[in-house]
Amino acid sequence: MKSIKILHMYADMLDLYGDGGNMEIMKYRCAKRGIECQVDSYSINSPKPDFSSYDLIYIGGGADLEQQHISEDLMKCREGIMKAYKSGTFQFLICGGYQLMGKFYRDADGNEIKGLGLFDYHTVAPSSRKLRCIGNIVIRAELDGKSVDIVGFENHGGQTKGVKTPFGKVLCGNGNCASSEFEGYFEKNVIATYLHGPCLSKNPEVSDYMISYCVNRGASEKITLQPLDDKLENDCRKVMLDRLLK
Ligand code: GLN
Repeated sequence: MKSIKILHMYADMLDLYGDGGNMEIMKYRCAKRGIECQVDSYSINSPKPDFSSYDLIYIGGGADLEQQHISEDLMKCREGIMKAYKSGTFQFLICGGYQLMGKFYRDADGNEIKGLGLFDYHTVAPSSRKLRCIGNIVIRAELDGKSVDIVGFENHGGQTKGVKTPFGKVLCGNGNCASSEFEGYFEKNVIATYLHGPCLSKNPEVSDYMISYCVNRGASEKITLQPLDDKLENDCRKVMLDRLLK
């Protein structure tokens, strides 16, 4: 049986707007296909795992205080996460998790949290909390050559700058910065995005992109995922697309 291993980091601290639900969706979509999906948890001061033994590392979003709480511990994982990323482990990062994989995050009070520096973007929040990017968001991304409209909800003060390969083009909402043209950060084995929701609930293509990547890591021949009945997910997305784009 095909299987994938996921490391969910700081689920107890970084879980804004139900980001933990993304792991339920990954497990569900794997189970429907007979793919074993093992999700391990990592919290502050957990024994350091072999990060490279995972197919995917997931970090959700959190308020400034929670990001500060986990930052020192996260920095201790830097070498292991960097090695895993370079060896092909997928990095799925939501909002606060996205920010902390960059060079730094400076919050609205001017507190600067050093990021892991896996990627060369950085994030700065305006001093006025009234300038937060909050609301529904739609982006147009390309996954495996297919254009996909992805819906979610954003709530971040941080303005992320220096992104050279964004996840998608903003059709509605803010994105990496207020009124930004682009949102998120993307590489073949990285999806970093501000989309809460949880992100995967109405966007099955995103889940399947990651599942396909993980099951094909090291596979001798291409494994094609069996399609699932995504009527409910697509109907829910259509409600939001009709409301936000019409
Ligand atoms: N605390 C960060 C910010 O305000 C991230 C927020 C989040 O994860 N939703 O930008």
